[in-house]
Amino acid sequence: MRRKTTFVLFLVFALILAWVVIITDKQVRDHLGSTLYVIGFAITGCMILVLAGYAWNQELVKTLKSMHDTTDSVRLDDMPLSTEESDSDEIIGLARKIERMARSLQQVEASYKGIVEDQPDLICRYRNDGKMTFVNGAYARAVNRKRTELVGVDFPYFTPGAAIADEPYTFETEMPFEDGRRLWIRWTQRAIKDDERNTMEYQAVGHDITERKEAEAADRAKSEFLAIVSHELRTPINAIIGFSKMLFSTTLTLDQREQVEMINSSGLALEKIIADILNLSKIDSGKIDIEHAPFSLRTCVQDMCAFFAPKARSLALALDSKVDPGVPEIVNSDESRIRQILTNLIGNALKFTERGGVSLEVSCARGEPLEPGSPRRVARLFFAVKDSGIGIPPEKLDHLFLPFSQVDTSSTRRRGGTGLGLIISKRLCELMGGTISVESRVGEGSTFRFSILTDFDEA
Ligand code: ADP
Repeated sequence: MRRKTTFVLFLVFALILAWVVIITDKQVRDHLGSTLYVIGFAITGCMILVLAGYAWNQELVKTLKSMHDTTDSVRLDDMPLSTEESDSDEIIGLARKIERMARSLQQVEASYKGIVEDQPDLICRYRNDGKMTFVNGAYARAVNRKRTELVGVDFPYFTPGAAIADEPYTFETEMPFEDGRRLWIRWTQRAIKDDERNTMEYQAVGHDITERKEAEAADRAKSEFLAIVSHELRTPINAIIGFSKMLFSTTLTLDQREQVEMINSSGLALEKIIADILNLSKIDSGKIDIEHAPFSLRTCVQDMCAFFAPKARSLALALDSKVDPGVPEIVNSDESRIRQILTNLIGNALKFTERGGVSLEVSCARGEPLEPGSPRRVARLFFAVKDSGIGIPPEKLDHLFLPFSQVDTSSTRRRGGTGLGLIISKRLCELMGGTISVESRVGEGSTFRFSILTDFDEA
């Protein structure tokens, strides 16, 4: 039992005993005479006072205990409790805990301050009249002013009312820095609200996006440049191709015919390079849309073979195709992009094969319905273009899908090509949710495989 309770009980017991002695002992009563009532009232009063004091004290102890519990729940790990303290007076214990909490809060504040200060992002807070109440080191350094000098100064990009909603408001501005640089900053402004959802002040965090902005500008400039160059180049190239064709219908010596053929094939090669460069730049700048329309994959494969059949015949190469029975009759995808990839892969296979032949195989893995109960199911189509050609050395395989990558530039010069076909095919596959890969052995041939994600309606 606690000391205080023992003491109170002892006091009350002593007072009751005094009462009992006074009431039961006649001698004492007679001795006290008329003061008996005064003493009686005094004893009763004392008892009431002691009990009320005790009850009040208990109430106080209860409040202190609950404060103890609250302080215990805050960072208890940082404040080990000693058994000695739990027995000591609550007020002293609480005071010690509050002191430790204050120290711990100082540490937390210092570490958060460190985080805010070390941020490369610009951070500032301001009232709803735009006057700043806090800036971090990065902001102060950007404008080359002391932090204290900036308190009360207008936040230059403040947009009144922009962040009243709960959602943060984002905007981009070009900001002049003191060192002469002009950087693009993306600001995220949000309102800091109190418990009653009233806006106390605003906070803006500014992130440097200059690199992205410059890349976007460079991209725009590149696209414009390519558009202009391709237009300027196409006109004379068309003239070269057109006039060289016209020359074929005139009387030419054997030498002249060879030379005109050279002019014509060079013109066609140039036309292909320009088309490829434009194509890749369009894909890279995200300006290409992938269609999602139904078409027959079998017809597409037949058409591709029919297109390349004359070339294969002229090279005395076999050209086969096989579509697995599991491939749906109609699939939803971008037929023209699939044709573009196949044209490049079959064209390459024929170009780099001297004996044997080329084959195209298509298979399919059927997946889950797009939605529960829906007849439309996802599917992955697998294409494989195999040839028995010259093959590719293992050390060159990794670089194959990079722009302008050609295994043997002398042989390519002989066979023609831009070195852009595979990178374009790779990008198109990725846009259609697939991948492309190659296996090859020098002297035995190569197999290019690619897959695309599609869907189809179950009959
Ligand atoms: P290119 O227009 O030069 O064919 P690609 O990007 O389509 O450009 O191909 C890049 C290079 O990869 C080719 O120049 C060639 O060296 C090699 N290559 C592509 N396909 C084959 C193949 N089937 N057999 C051997 N080498 C190939």
